[in-house]
Amino acid sequence: MADSDNRRKFMAQTVQSVGLAALGGLLWSGYADAVKASPLVLRPPGALEEESFLTACIKCGLCGEACRNRETNIDKETGLPRESTIKMAKGGDHRLIGTPYFIPRQIPCYMCEDIPCVPVCPSGALDMASLLNEQKELDINKASMGLAIVHKESCIAYWGIQCDACYRACPVMDEAITLEYQKNDRTGKHAYLLPVVHDKACTGCGMCEQACVTEKAAIFVLPNEVAKGKPGDHYVKGWDKEDQQRVKDAQGLETTTERSKLDSTEYLNAEVEY
Ligand code: SF4
Ligand code: SF4
Ligand code: SF4
Repeated sequence: MADSDNRRKFMAQTVQSVGLAALGGLLWSGYADAVKASPLVLRPPGALEEESFLTACIKCGLCGEACRNRETNIDKETGLPRESTIKMAKGGDHRLIGTPYFIPRQIPCYMCEDIPCVPVCPSGALDMASLLNEQKELDINKASMGLAIVHKESCIAYWGIQCDACYRACPVMDEAITLEYQKNDRTGKHAYLLPVVHDKACTGCGMCEQACVTEKAAIFVLPNEVAKGKPGDHYVKGWDKEDQQRVKDAQGLETTTERSKLDSTEYLNAEVEY
């Protein structure tokens, strides 16, 4: 083959492989972007906010391993670990490959007291500090993996049928989820007992979602960024339970200035020295 032919062939192959690499790169970045933008992934306890998590996670799989080997996950008969909550994303899972996630309807987070998946994380993608309580101990109740949402139209308790499966499954029962009594105005005789989720206590573990008796769960966990609204800084919150508590706590405290010891009329008429 002549030199020029060889060169043409070489050039053609080079252009082809560069083109394929570029196309592959485009496809990969498109895929990665699509996955990055996917708002519906649930991460293990203590995970940073999604964008920071994706930057920090080095995809080592240690959290998944710790979850699989946790004491309660060992099959007593065989001594082998069972399928674990945390899965590491593979191609086709529609999550960034190698990152940990869980699907509560299949296997929820069991809220292990010692949270074995978190201290093993070498990158800080699972942040221990976010799970410390006032005593500086790891506390799984501090986790906020997502928020459970009740779809009232498909929850049979809202149809008047007695069901408390999600309520009973919740490890933070009566704090994260309560049953609220509501009179049935139509019959006047019956009552509803309705599951209501409370944002501050719900850890997003998904035990309620797994336990839900409907064909497709009527209660399901969504990532915080998807489930929660944001009012904006220009709104000022009115009087709430915390304010009431502050007033209650303040009663019994010593007043600190002469003027503040006066009753309201004296207070308003008192001369103030500036
Ligand atoms: S706390 Fe949840 S995710 Fe972590 S090891 Fe236990 S079951 Fe797995
Ligand atoms: S242990 Fe941390 S860095 Fe490793 S895969 Fe899990 S979250 Fe990512
Ligand atoms: S996700 Fe469900 S089971 Fe878990 S804490 Fe929230 S309400 Fe309870």
